[in-house]
Amino acid sequence: MYDRTLINSSTPGGTITVIGWVHEVRDLGGLTFLLLRDRSGILQAKFEKENLSQEILSLLDQLYRESVVLLTGEIVEEKRAPNGIELIPKTIEIISLSDPNLPLDPSGKVTSELSTRLDKRCIDLRRPESRSIFEIRSEVQRSIRQHFYDIDCIEINTPKIVATGTEGGTDLFPIAYFGKEAFMNQSPQLFKQLVAGGGIERVFEIGPIFRAEEHNTTRHLNEATSIDFEAAFIDHEMAMEVAEEVISIAYHSVSENCHEQLQMLGIQKLTLPQIPFPRISYTNAIEIANESGDLPEPLNWGDDLSTQAERSIGDIMNSHYFITDWPSEIKPFYIQDQDESPELSKGFDLMHPSMELVSGGQRENRYEFLINALENQGLNPSDFEFYVDMFRYGMPPHSGWGMGADRLVMSMLQLDNVREVVLFPRDRNRLAP
Ligand code: ATP
Ligand code: MG
Repeated sequence: MYDRTLINSSTPGGTITVIGWVHEVRDLGGLTFLLLRDRSGILQAKFEKENLSQEILSLLDQLYRESVVLLTGEIVEEKRAPNGIELIPKTIEIISLSDPNLPLDPSGKVTSELSTRLDKRCIDLRRPESRSIFEIRSEVQRSIRQHFYDIDCIEINTPKIVATGTEGGTDLFPIAYFGKEAFMNQSPQLFKQLVAGGGIERVFEIGPIFRAEEHNTTRHLNEATSIDFEAAFIDHEMAMEVAEEVISIAYHSVSENCHEQLQMLGIQKLTLPQIPFPRISYTNAIEIANESGDLPEPLNWGDDLSTQAERSIGDIMNSHYFITDWPSEIKPFYIQDQDESPELSKGFDLMHPSMELVSGGQRENRYEFLINALENQGLNPSDFEFYVDMFRYGMPPHSGWGMGADRLVMSMLQLDNVREVVLFPRDRNRLAP
């Protein structure tokens, strides 16, 4: 559309065209400095008023911050300019004028509440910090995708409108579906199992999951992004290795490819997690939590870990770690029981010190056991017929996991609210933008 030069590739000599947003205008009497911003950086443009036509002077007068303008001119060296060069514009064209009353300050000099930033997300994304977060998030997903391809997975897309929830229960959003009962899917779980176990063998999906979580916390969303992996002929131990590898690769890629973005967020050097991550049993985890003295009441064997328990164990572990050997009754029906001790499951969680990142396990692939598991959890096998039926036609052992992409990025960047890493978060109160 325009024959433009990106700001970070502007070099002295010749006439160039740059387009972007007016980051700042400084009127110093005889001189006006305009800072122009595009996706690659910020360039100083210097207008000497005595050399300017009346037309350009009047254009400069109307220019408010965040207007979009096109400048043509010559780049010259200027030691006092931020990047050692400046533009001496010959022409200026206003492409889109901004309202002078900005709802928030994109230069970040005036800080705004998160809720204001989310209400005006598009303007918030002009802040280099916000932009950096999403560039890093993109790198996380790019590197993880690449790794899945490297280990021979194919990328799949499963339905988000379903007739039954993955685990039944109350976390489902009902939707109107031509007079039938339907829900937004909580997880690709059952579908990815059918595809991997059905014959494709190795699959992954990066997509939305919907949870009607009642509570409003800094790590729960009602629409989250899940990174799902599922593979046939692997056990839960191998699935754990893939999970820790994926996390390690995401950290390494961001550390190598996102220097500027990390700096922008005040992170001089990303601490790379060391794999293999330590593994502790659920029983051990309960003991650590109870011994921490932080819990209002001790946990009993069979209880799920409370938020406080996760924090207390995380403080002691002080790195990513796995919790294994969970009681079967608090893991979903599709997780297989251990062969020797059926009261324990082949499920695992992968934890960051501050929260859960991944749940996974080896799946129950034996038809009769699956029917029993559903019944034991008070679910009706006929509600899951599309799923259980396939287990009658040769279902190999298989394992996998689901990882919260939002939580992975949030914990990597040590942000205190998951909404920071989601463009347009959905929570109890937020449905737009
Ligand atoms: P938690 O106990 O922390 O609420 P969960 O055990 O309910 O998580 P799973 O069903 O095991 O979550 O989902 C797998 C992963 O997906 C979680 O470990 C987490 O990283 C992510 N996840 C699940 N629910 C949410 C949510 N509401 N918001 C953001 N991420 C989520
Ligand atoms: Mg979980």
